[in-house]
Amino acid sequence: MKPILSVKDIKKTYANKTQALKGVSFDLQEGEFVAIIGSSGSGKSTLLRCINQLVSQTEGSIEFKGTEVEKLKGAGLKKVRREIGMIFQHYNLIDRLTVIQNVLHGRLGYMNDFRGIFDLYSMEDRWKAYKILERVGLADEIYKRADQLSGGQKQRVGISRALAQNPSLMLADEPIASLDPVSSSTVMDYLHGICVEDGISAIVSLHQVDFAVKYATRIIGINKGIIVFDGKTQELSDSIINKIYDNKCNSVSSENTTNEMIQGERVAV
Ligand code: ADP
Ligand code: MG
Repeated sequence: MKPILSVKDIKKTYANKTQALKGVSFDLQEGEFVAIIGSSGSGKSTLLRCINQLVSQTEGSIEFKGTEVEKLKGAGLKKVRREIGMIFQHYNLIDRLTVIQNVLHGRLGYMNDFRGIFDLYSMEDRWKAYKILERVGLADEIYKRADQLSGGQKQRVGISRALAQNPSLMLADEPIASLDPVSSSTVMDYLHGICVEDGISAIVSLHQVDFAVKYATRIIGINKGIIVFDGKTQELSDSIINKIYDNKCNSVSSENTTNEMIQGERVAV
């Protein structure tokens, strides 16, 4: 079967000469739910951002549904970006807008600029946004301002906005790094559940090994811009984890992971 995504030997050197990716290759099959794990600075965000061309790689190619994304511009790029949903650590919501307005922003890629500027969403779009919010348990919050939500609720809006794009690929960049363990589980349950139910392929970068193991069927471990592990979740061992984290994290249920999550939440609040 042809992969939905094929990343071929990509390298990224930023203007300041930092080599964030040093030749990364992997294929993603349709419907796979993959976790990318690695320390801070290992290149997870750069990799995800290259896939939808928020960052352009220095070398190598990325094929999404058979199209080389780095060659796209204008309408072609807009079309591919709308098929690739993106979820961010800090949610990237518009605080002064309501929950449903934030979700409707996911429909912008389908509208012409004029309709987008004037918020002229169709009834169909509004109904679709409502149904998505209902799916993530936010049907009663649709008219709340985004800044009045808890972190976990904000991320469920982030997921809903990405779903409103009708994506075939979902990229989530540390979606739970700013959340406490309970909200993290809720968010991952929704994200994973919906991707599996709708057959959406997903790449989720995670700091927390235990969450990667719980949800992903395949794990990619990245260390200093190089993939050091790519295999089935069951194959991930403590020695491989040590290789990914340079011996700084030595077991699947590391206490450090939990502490980092709690600290992350304090920063976000
Ligand atoms: P991660 O998401 O795993 O923390 P990143 O992809 O953010 O890793 O970063 C990988 C490396 O690239 C780090 O050394 C980081 O400092 C560097 N980096 C990231 N973004 C930029 C940028 N815009 N300019 C220069 N260096 C960057
Ligand atoms: Mg990152």
